[in-house]
Amino acid sequence: MLPVIALVGRPNVGKSTLFNRLTRTRDALVADFPGLTRDRKYGHASYEGYEFIVVDTGGIDGSEEGIETEMAQQSLLAIEEADIVLFLVDARAGLTSADIGIAQHLRKQQKKSFVVANKTDGIDADSAAAEFYQLALGDVHHIAAAHGRGVTQLLEHTLRPVLGDLNEEIAEEEAEHDNEFEAYDEEHVEGEEEEEAEDKPIKLAIIGRPNVGKSTLTNRILGEERVIVYDMPGTTRDSIYIPMTRNDREYILIDTAGVRKRKKVSDVVEKFSVIKTLQAIEDANVILLVIDAREGISDQDLSLLGFALNSGRSLVIAVNKWDGLDEYVKERIKSELDRRLGFIDFARIHFISALHGTGVGHLFESVEEAYDSATRRVSTAMLRRIMDMAQADHQPPMIRGRRVKLKYAHAGGYNPPRIVIHGNQVDDLPDSYKRYLMNYYRKALNIMGTPIKIEFREGD
Ligand code: GDP
Ligand code: GDP
Repeated sequence: MLPVIALVGRPNVGKSTLFNRLTRTRDALVADFPGLTRDRKYGHASYEGYEFIVVDTGGIDGSEEGIETEMAQQSLLAIEEADIVLFLVDARAGLTSADIGIAQHLRKQQKKSFVVANKTDGIDADSAAAEFYQLALGDVHHIAAAHGRGVTQLLEHTLRPVLGDLNEEIAEEEAEHDNEFEAYDEEHVEGEEEEEAEDKPIKLAIIGRPNVGKSTLTNRILGEERVIVYDMPGTTRDSIYIPMTRNDREYILIDTAGVRKRKKVSDVVEKFSVIKTLQAIEDANVILLVIDAREGISDQDLSLLGFALNSGRSLVIAVNKWDGLDEYVKERIKSELDRRLGFIDFARIHFISALHGTGVGHLFESVEEAYDSATRRVSTAMLRRIMDMAQADHQPPMIRGRRVKLKYAHAGGYNPPRIVIHGNQVDDLPDSYKRYLMNYYRKALNIMGTPIKIEFREGD
């Protein structure tokens, strides 16, 4: 599980500046969920070797009418969901009563909170920061988010003790996968074809914005199967993991809608959490993104899709509530999907009714296909043969009077499949040719439901 860091503070102290800095190194995908989460933004941060989810909570100024106001409730939920809170204050403006209000909130929450004095560029940082010790939240860290000063140290000092273990676990897991793959590569001599991945349970996360029908779908799936359900202890941000069998395959359903936990259906805050969704994406093998046919594709759907794509996970899309629509409306929805989702060429789209169960069975065919595509091992010989064929069918362009030459291909990993291609001038290959290669591999290997990554290396 990726750790979660919340940026808290009154408006204008530099939260979004810091947020942008933390998320910049890896294409920052920011989800805005208007009406639901107000100004909160979520990003996947990869900074100085640390990986985490960062949340910009928007502004709380400490003067909210207790926790009753929805605004405050949302911010407090963000704090509750976080592993760590960075409480930003403005070193130039000095201590304000709003800061004191926020500090009181944080002390009540008993979260690991750190005071961060921002905008310390061009001023005497130590004396400016001194008054913030009154907040009684321990050490005051200095940064200048706009210039990046102090940010690495901030992470070192405040986050390492908390994140160290988590990140080590993640690194170990990754190393394990790499070893597995290398061992596989060594074992498999040229000329051998392909092999199915071993039968681990498929972790399937059902995600989607509120009210698209996730719970209905989950219940429908579970209702049709024999399942053992166990509740995991935890907070609102934890998904429920439900083991199940379908078509003789083992699954673990990651239920972000909290079907088995939810008491009041109307409780949106309880029910939907972006962080829960992001964690589920990270933890899943296959993501099932549910969209509401009746609502069309919203920015929220696109944000979730963006996170799914960015994660490199396999993806199946379910357009739900397909029941009772007349043909004209169905056509209109389909053309909207084409227009707005045309850029995702690998994910299968299903039209279903979770309520009536129509189309739900076929979903699993695509889920299986996506998982198998993502985890299948393909031999070096095969990858190379396909590269040669692609090159023969349509040769790479000339660049500076010399033709780009692809020389060698081998696998670089799986889940998602990575292919490494060595050659001359490959760094200059136009995107159109890269896309052509990717599609060629996709067709030749019959890979659906998962992105394919191709890396190019100059030389042999
Ligand atoms: P937010 O409302 O807390 O998200 O604050 P913003 O990130 O939007 O920043 C508010 C203002 O402070 C902007 O004009 C920033 O350019 C400025 N700012 C942010 N970080 C720094 C900094 O490190 N030094 C200085 N001098 N200004 C900063
Ligand atoms: P969640 O918030 O994504 O878990 O959504 P729910 O499963 O709670 O569904 C939200 C509403 O949509 C409920 O009133 C459901 O009865 C309704 N709903 C869910 N699936 C369908 C469907 O396939 N067709 C129709 N017509 N309504 C549906």
